[in-house]
Amino acid sequence: MMKTQNKVALVTGSAAGIGRRIAETYVEAGFQVGIADINLDAATTTAGKIGDAAVPLRMDVTKEEEVNKGVDALAQHFGTVDILVSNAGIQHIDPIVDLDYSNWKKLLAIHLDGAFLTTRACMRKMVDQGQGGSVILMGSAHSKVASPLKAPYVTAKHGLLGLCRVIAKEGAEHGIRSNVICPGFVRTPLVEKQIPEQAEELGISEEEVVKNIMLKDTVDGEFTTLDDVASVALFLAAFPTNALTGQSILVSHGWFME
Ligand code: NAD
Repeated sequence: MMKTQNKVALVTGSAAGIGRRIAETYVEAGFQVGIADINLDAATTTAGKIGDAAVPLRMDVTKEEEVNKGVDALAQHFGTVDILVSNAGIQHIDPIVDLDYSNWKKLLAIHLDGAFLTTRACMRKMVDQGQGGSVILMGSAHSKVASPLKAPYVTAKHGLLGLCRVIAKEGAEHGIRSNVICPGFVRTPLVEKQIPEQAEELGISEEEVVKNIMLKDTVDGEFTTLDDVASVALFLAAFPTNALTGQSILVSHGWFME
């Protein structure tokens, strides 16, 4: 079963947004973290603010060699790799009929190839270490529902559910669990960017995008917060047994209920 103290976590896309708050929360809980991001300057700044429990890692999650090197460097720096949060992601807004193939492929590569490559590298370490582990994939409410203009994102986020379930089956004998977090809208740069994009594409105001599209189906018209998502990421990292594996947890103010 997974060791319960001095955990080491790789968090991808953690120079900013949700990933950064998860890394900060992990360190507050006593973990050590790798701040892995395609933006090394930002990762270095984030790790510097966190302190000795964080190490910056330059990692484009779509590059096999960079992922393997980054995971090796983290294991060398802190001794083990016990938790993966595969979080790096982007958004792309376009109707299918106007969607360039290159944009489709780029988004799927970051979300799906990135999840596979980081999972494989971390699982190899976890199996060798023999102390279990926790793989957390950052899904979305869009792992469960579709929205117009987001074909590659909705496709990728649904795909992560399948990967999570296979990891859970293959990881079980090694005490490696896998779960997906499915947040609703959180006000990060990723979301701030798409508010004006959607407003323009749909011919409505930015206020209408927030109220009538993003938060329309929530129970209270509220955004999900960084801390909401980070709390669930901590719970999933710390859960001690295979009882909680292969699952997806919605953190979306009731946007979608199952
Ligand atoms: P963000 O744009 O604030 O941060 C994303 C980070 O990922 C950035 O630091 C960026 O440099 C990094 N990144 C981008 N491409 C990368 C690559 N190829 N390799 C490594 N790092 C890369 O985004 P966010 O809102 O914090 O989103 C984080 C994750 O949460 C994403 O997977 C996103 O789909 C998911 N999510 C976000 C929301 C939301 O409302 N913000 C909701 C549901 C799910």
